[in-house]
Amino acid sequence: MRGFCDCCDERADQLFDITRLKEFVEIVKTYQYRAVCQACYDDLYEELQREKEPSDEE
Ligand SMILES: [Zn+2]
Repeated sequence: MRGFCDCCDERADQLFDITRLKEFVEIVKTYQYRAVCQACYDDLYEELQREKEPSDEE
């Protein structure tokens, strides 16, 4: 899938349709993102992981 990332508005050759991923349900609902680029996908995914388990970092 090609187009513009809903998160950073950059053109991307590969977009991820996060509406199909149940892990991203909250992100889709909160930010209204539907397709995001690889970098944003990684960022959002990391954010989700961070929310799930409290990190040891300060
Ligand atoms: Zn992006």
